[in-house]
Amino acid sequence: MRMPTRHLLGIESLHPRDISALLDLAESYALLNRSGKTRRDVLRGRTLINLFFEDSTRTRTSFELAGKRLGADVINMSVSTSSVSKGETLLDTAATLNAMNCDLLVVRHKSSGAPALLAQKVDAAVINAGDGMHEHPTQALLDALTIRRHKGTLEGLTVAICGDIAHSRVARSNILLLTAMGSTVRVVGPPTLIPSGIEQFGVTIHHDMADGLRGADIVMALRLQTERMSGGLIPSAREFFTFYGLDAAKLAHARPDALVMHPGPMNRGVEIDSQIADHATRSVIREQVEMGVAVRMAVLDVLARTATPNA
Ligand code: ASP
Repeated sequence: MRMPTRHLLGIESLHPRDISALLDLAESYALLNRSGKTRRDVLRGRTLINLFFEDSTRTRTSFELAGKRLGADVINMSVSTSSVSKGETLLDTAATLNAMNCDLLVVRHKSSGAPALLAQKVDAAVINAGDGMHEHPTQALLDALTIRRHKGTLEGLTVAICGDIAHSRVARSNILLLTAMGSTVRVVGPPTLIPSGIEQFGVTIHHDMADGLRGADIVMALRLQTERMSGGLIPSAREFFTFYGLDAAKLAHARPDALVMHPGPMNRGVEIDSQIADHATRSVIREQVEMGVAVRMAVLDVLARTATPNA
C-alpha cells in the first residue's frame, strides 16, 4: 500500500480504505512479533529520529522498537539534552535534522500543528506522535487494531470515550477514526471537559456514566490532561472519580463482554479503578501497548515505501 500523503499528521487525512490497509499490515506485524521473528530489513539504511518535546513512555519506546525491528538506524533526541534547551527554535532544529538526511521524523510537541509545520520544512516523512490537543494518529490506529482483534470489526460497535475529552488528542483521533469506520461514538464526561460543538464530529454527548455506558461494546477511559488545563475544571480528583472514574459499578452498565481501554499513563483511582484496569478478561490495556509496536512498524514501513515509490 501507499499513503495518500508523505507524512502521517492525523487521522483526518486518511480514507477508511487506508485505515483498513494499515490495520491489516499492522496485524501481520503483530503476528510476526508474537512469533519471535522480529527482525526485518525493510528500513535498512534508513534513519529514524524520535524528536520528543513532551514526555512519553509508550509512544517513544515503541517507535524506537518499531524502527529497530525494521532495521533502521534510530536516534532518540530528548529536548532536555538538545540545543532546544539553549533557545534553538523548532525550525532551526528541523533544519539541523534535515542536514543529517533523516528519512523518518517522529515528532511530539505541546503545540497543535507543530508536526505539520515541520513537515513543510524537512525532506523526511513526518509522523505526528501527539501534538497538543490536536491529534495522536498512531494511538487511534493501535486502539482500532486492538478492538478489531477482539470484536472482528469496527463497524456497528458502540464506543464510549470517557473523561477529559476537551484536552485529549487521543479522543480526537479516535473519534475521527471510529466514526469513519462505522462505529457509534459517545463522549462521556462533565460539561467542563466536553468541548462545545463536538457533536459536529458525529458523536453523542453524555454527562452521566450510566447513560453513556449503557450497552457499550468498548469503554475507553482517558487521563485528566492537567498539563493542558487552565483553572479548576473539576472540583477535585476524588469527586471526579466518584462520578466519572471507571469502576465495576459503572462498567456494569456496558455490555457484559465490553472491553476496557486506556491509552496510558493511567492515574489509578482518578479516571480508572485498579480492579478494572487490571481485570484479566475485560481490560486490554496491555494489549494496546503491544499493538502500539505493530502499528508503528506498519506506519514506518508504509511511509518509507511512499517516499520511494519504486522500492
Ligand atoms: N499518552 C497519551 C498522549 O500522549 C495520553 C495521555 O497522555 O493521557 O496523549
